Amino acid sequence: MSISVDLSSKTALVMGVANARSLGWAIAEQLLAAGCRVGFSYQGERLKGELDKLLAGKEGVWAQQADATSEDDLTALFARVKAEFGTLDMLVHSIGFAPRSAMDGRFVDTTPEDWNTALSVSAYTLVSTARHAEPLLNAGGSIVSLTYHASQQVVPKYNVMGVAKAALEAATRYLASEMGAAGVRVNTISAGPMRTIAARSIPGFGAMYEKAAAAAPLGRNATPEEVGKLALFLLSDLGSGMTGQTVYVDAGASIMTMKVD
Ligand code: NAD
Repeated sequence: MSISVDLSSKTALVMGVANARSLGWAIAEQLLAAGCRVGFSYQGERLKGELDKLLAGKEGVWAQQADATSEDDLTALFARVKAEFGTLDMLVHSIGFAPRSAMDGRFVDTTPEDWNTALSVSAYTLVSTARHAEPLLNAGGSIVSLTYHASQQVVPKYNVMGVAKAALEAATRYLASEMGAAGVRVNTISAGPMRTIAARSIPGFGAMYEKAAAAAPLGRNATPEEVGKLALFLLSDLGSGMTGQTVYVDAGASIMTMKVD
């Protein structure tokens, strides 16, 4: 069975592509394959080279630097969206960060600075980007972000990042409740572990990656491509009845408490 999605009349902004392994890029690949016009934002000039390489030869794309915690950067970014596209159909928030110091030690020792950084970058920026996007979003528009199951159950070393993801999921519901009247949907994808730059900063990620695969009903981890396909569903009209949801793509790992062979 094949379902083809035609997004040739649609526009998207993807925030948070650092390199080819980024989940934001896996999502962008699906959007581009469906003919969507896609703008990108990257955190700092240091990341521009990687994105330029990925976008080389692609049509209808552009990129602009924007630190998502900067109101000025967001104002300039959405001015660019307006200038390039006029209006916006899809927003992808693929941004997360917690200082290493918050993940190395005990959760009880989390400092206010690390708490504020993790919550601000990983959760509040969904709210601020949604606010900037709102005037440009068409009816039928869709916002998608990325979360992780450490919001619901304790995953060793995720610490304040688990709290930040819980905030992101709650923010998704509040945004969905407010933006639904304008026909805009807001959902978050709970992805299983994937080997990306952000994941490499989590102590013990390698061992956790192997354990999650072994415990999952499908006997493996989900792939970035599978994240991209779920995002395509949620961002397009295929997901038109869904809003405020945390949707899992993790090969089923989150349903298991233990697996006995
Ligand atoms: P990644 O490192 O490729 O992407 C994270 C992105 O966040 C980077 O592009 C980085 O530049 C950006 N970012 C960080 N701080 C920013 C700021 N202040 N302003 C703008 N951008 C900023 O890693 P990824 O794994 O693709 O992460 C994308 C999202 O997926 C994150 O929300 C992450 O928590 C989530 N996620 C990842 C996994 C995994 O195992 N990799 C699992 C579930 C959810």
